[in-house]
Amino acid sequence: MNKTEHKQTMDHLPVVIIGAGPIGLAAAAHLADRQIEFLLLESGSQIGHHVAEWGHVRLFSPWQYNVDAIAARLLSSRGWEAPEPDELPTGEELRDRYLLPLSRLPGIQSQILLNTKVIAVSKKDTDKMKSANRDLLPFEIYAEAKGELKRFEARAVIDASGTWGNSNPLYASGVWTSEEYSAGERIFYGIPDLRGKDKSRYLNKRTAVVGGGHSAINTLLELADLKESDPATEIVWIMRKNKVEDAYGGEEQDQLAARGELGARIHHLVDAGQIEVVTPFRIREVKLQDEKMTISGLHHQSLLDIRDIDRVIVNAGSRPDISFLSELRLSLDQATESVAALAPLIDPNVHSCGTVRPHGENELRHIDKGFYIVGMKSYGRAPTFLMTTGYEQVRSVVAYLAGDYEAAKRVELKLPETGVCSIRNTTANPAGTSCTTSAAVPTESNSCCASESIPVRKNDKNC
Ligand SMILES: Cc1cc2nc3c(=O)[nH]c(=O)nc-3n(C[C@H](O)[C@H](O)[C@H](O)COP(=O)(O)OP(=O)(O)OC[C@H]3O[C@@H](n4cnc5c(N)ncnc54)[C@H](O)[C@@H]3O)c2cc1C
Repeated sequence: MNKTEHKQTMDHLPVVIIGAGPIGLAAAAHLADRQIEFLLLESGSQIGHHVAEWGHVRLFSPWQYNVDAIAARLLSSRGWEAPEPDELPTGEELRDRYLLPLSRLPGIQSQILLNTKVIAVSKKDTDKMKSANRDLLPFEIYAEAKGELKRFEARAVIDASGTWGNSNPLYASGVWTSEEYSAGERIFYGIPDLRGKDKSRYLNKRTAVVGGGHSAINTLLELADLKESDPATEIVWIMRKNKVEDAYGGEEQDQLAARGELGARIHHLVDAGQIEVVTPFRIREVKLQDEKMTISGLHHQSLLDIRDIDRVIVNAGSRPDISFLSELRLSLDQATESVAALAPLIDPNVHSCGTVRPHGENELRHIDKGFYIVGMKSYGRAPTFLMTTGYEQVRSVVAYLAGDYEAAKRVELKLPETGVCSIRNTTANPAGTSCTTSAAVPTESNSCCASESIPVRKNDKNC
């Protein structure tokens, strides 16, 4: 086959999307809107499978940031009523009021295959080693559906499979061990339903929450509510941060008010002595004896045992599953495992930002042309992803796949800011100017992170 014949064959193939979460479904909406053939493969038995698992958690971003613009247009043309823009949905509401109706639109519903888990993506009949004609070959997606192996060919692949369910372990080294596994059900990864089905497991127990992000704060606030109803409930908060104040975030300066409020509420509870804080703490070992756990690790420079723990809730972030991409040539950052070009913006070693400059197809490219990682997974292990960023990613990627290169290059998103965006290396910031903003209206130019073009990490300066 010559180059033209190859291209003609490829053009007839669909785009394959992996994952029917908010970002995969938004990609489907954009592809449907541009009348590009696609297939969406979802491993779960339901739309928004991951979101359903944290369905009891209230989002910190209101509806106006949680709905993709093209998806909203397609839905509205079918009589959908948009939720109140300023209301904060739970994960369950996000799924029921937005993701499910979106997945049922004509032109989308018929293209979704549930219970279809992607187990590998490669170039057709060509492993990672082989270079000849690589860009001219279709992608081949291997999936398992009800015990059967299925193969799909695609001209492009959009991996929106998220990171939820692929938790980091307890140990500061990032290593999973049999010690941790053997603690079994005493350790929970994620955000338990503390008002509902999981309440009795934590009431009147001594629970350690591990992690310093929004998920940990959510968990701690719910545990604090349990403690109010039963003061024998004890809460220990274990983090790696140098000081607890680093976990509070933008508080009242956060333009996502609900996210700021989480920080402000936890700040108040810590000050009131309701939560025992151990930070900085690097977990080295967990041991189970007589039904109680001891968590051992490094506190500042000394070894410390945290004893008599009944339950552990791990909110230490998650990591992308790149195992099924091992036959592709990727551009991933070594530290964050995010798409390489995004790493300088989102690396928590450098930024404490919740705000990341909007970006699109160009930044999301890999060495294998036509393959994209979008959504939560595009940030790898970095924790600051917002759905609205993902919607901009897929808008740009799909525009590119449609040959609309101008639209692909345009940035159509303005992000709300976290309010506090500081560079960790304070010696690089002798004037002590953190990037605290007080702007009421989000603009790109007044934001520390948002105003940067993608910087090189080692030369990073304060804003
Ligand atoms: C508790 C919590 C609260 C959050 N709150 C907010 C918020 O308020 N605002 C905000 O903007 N963001 C929030 N986020 C972050 C983020 O926007 C969400 O996690 C969002 O769901 C990410 O969407 P996604 O489509 O990238 O991935 P996911 O929602 O994780 O969807 C991925 C989908 O891919 C499927 N999948 C996985 N592997 C495979 C495979 N191998 N084959 C086929 N399918 C596969 C999964 O089953 C899932 O359905 C929150 C995250 C969490 C965990």
